[in-house]
Amino acid sequence: MGIIKKLSEGLVNRIAAGEVVEKPASVIKELVENSIDANATEITVITKDGGKTYISITDNGKGMSKEDLELSIERHATSKLPNDDLFDIHTFGFRGEALASISSVAKVRISTNNKKESWELNIEGGKNKTIKPSAITQGTKIEVSDLFFATPARLKFLKTDRSENSAIIETLQRLAISHPNVSINYNNKIKFLNTNKENKEESLKERLKQILGNEFEESSIPVNIEKHGLKITGFICKPTYNKANSLYQYLFVNDRPVKDKLLLAGVRAGYMDVLERGRFPVLALFIEIDPTEVDVNVHPAKTEVRFRDANLVKNILVSSIRQIIAEEEANATSSDIRSYLQKQVESSNSEINTVKNINSENHNFSQLSGDFKRISSPLTNHSFKKSFSMPNSVQESSFNNFNQNNETNISEEESFPLGTAMGNICNNYIISKTSEELLVIDQHACHERIVYEKLKKEMLNREIKRQPLLIPEVISLPQTQLESLLDQKDELYKLGLLIEKFGTNEIAVQETPAILGDFNITKTIKDLAEEAEEFSRTESLEDKLNHFIKTYACHTSIRAGKKLSLEEMNSLLRQMEDTPNSGQCNHGRPTFVKLSLNDLEKLFGRK
Ligand code: ADP
Ligand code: MG
Repeated sequence: MGIIKKLSEGLVNRIAAGEVVEKPASVIKELVENSIDANATEITVITKDGGKTYISITDNGKGMSKEDLELSIERHATSKLPNDDLFDIHTFGFRGEALASISSVAKVRISTNNKKESWELNIEGGKNKTIKPSAITQGTKIEVSDLFFATPARLKFLKTDRSENSAIIETLQRLAISHPNVSINYNNKIKFLNTNKENKEESLKERLKQILGNEFEESSIPVNIEKHGLKITGFICKPTYNKANSLYQYLFVNDRPVKDKLLLAGVRAGYMDVLERGRFPVLALFIEIDPTEVDVNVHPAKTEVRFRDANLVKNILVSSIRQIIAEEEANATSSDIRSYLQKQVESSNSEINTVKNINSENHNFSQLSGDFKRISSPLTNHSFKKSFSMPNSVQESSFNNFNQNNETNISEEESFPLGTAMGNICNNYIISKTSEELLVIDQHACHERIVYEKLKKEMLNREIKRQPLLIPEVISLPQTQLESLLDQKDELYKLGLLIEKFGTNEIAVQETPAILGDFNITKTIKDLAEEAEEFSRTESLEDKLNHFIKTYACHTSIRAGKKLSLEEMNSLLRQMEDTPNSGQCNHGRPTFVKLSLNDLEKLFGRK
């Protein structure tokens, strides 16, 4: 029988350090947060070897007295819980764990000046503590050398200098965004300058621009929402500005940087209809909530939080994002033209999708008209004819029509936001016009959006038709994916997909949705399985269905470069006008660009 022994203080600290101090970036996070808590406005961070051999943080904060300095490295010593109330936390630190943990696994020197006295404390691996007077003239400087020298096993887990360094930069960026009015200097290479703006929104914007560049500024939309005691401020970006990972999603709860699963899922759901799977929007959102409504004490590194009413928070986030994007789209003007064009060039290599069946609605082309001369170029009619491909039957008459400058139909024309189709370039770009605008419409992107919205409506509104497969398709999947997919079996059945377990690591697809016709079952199922695995339990049924539908839409009825008649083009435009989210394809690219008369005049140097 063993004898129960109390762990020594040093050992307890090292165990705690395993949780709080995982790598140099986490040391820096804790120390910079301490500086901010001490009201510092200027913080300098210096590291050597990715922080492994040396880290120093210098601040101009309020400093510590000799007594506080001595206490600061004791476990659970904190000046930040004056009322002992864990549910009323307004500062970063509150566990009183960081300095104790760090000084138990590294060599630490703290020099501090509280405007009355200056002291220096040295401690190595939690031992040999000494205190002596110091010459430091303001604030606090904390130096951490040989991190994990006292715990060699941990040392082995550190990554290359380069990757530790990028983790540090990421950490500092998040801190910099949450405190735009604090200057942070990293190794004299990266400087987040004090934005010096009175207005919080302005200073945040400035800071985000320092970090993300001009593209952020061009795509950002301010957020200012207050609902059910929850306040959300900051910026989201248009879906066209997106990234390959979630690193550029800066989320804060009561100014604390968080990487909370629930919130990230909320962002994903908010952008679901306008962004391709695997692409991530850029945003910086600050959620303010009554501190008693949120528990930040879930994880020692404190990037996760627990809301008392998690679903309410998530729903507000999702609906706010959706609403802002929808409003933005409604207001979209041709001033976006440059970034649109840029995006189109960038994405020109991506796959292009079209739908097979577009309902022709027999549009009347007598509408083709307008004051084309006013916006015409030095090109002759002849060269115009050459550049637009037109179905023969309507080619001549339509050109005659719009050259006649037939004013009488303008009002009719104006009633179509996407204008009247005049022709098509490369079987993909429809050229259309309203009385004062020229539009270029990406036919494939439009198709994709229409199909997606149609599928969504059908699948959510009524039971969809299933089509049994003559021979079930057997697909083998990794164990975890297989299980998560089978977990979602009922949901998939609602979407017209009947799957059964088959053998040990295979599933058999028995029925598929009739609406999809011929599609690549194996590829679709593999994508669905990957998604099912990703879903956290917090994802709502609606979100799940949406994800699945999107995956379907990507794999459906795709044919590039379909030649459309003018009737079909116009019919497509009219369908687009009736389709929600029609400004973007499912991949977050624009579906059309608009040139106003004003833009055209600028292009030709008339303005
Ligand atoms: P916590 O931040 O959770 O209180 P820490 O271990 O990080 O715990 O810090 C312990 C205490 O040391 C803090 O409560 C604070 O009083 C003091 N302290 C730490 N860093 C600084 C600093 N840069 N300036 C002034 N005081 C500090
Ligand atoms: Mg702290």
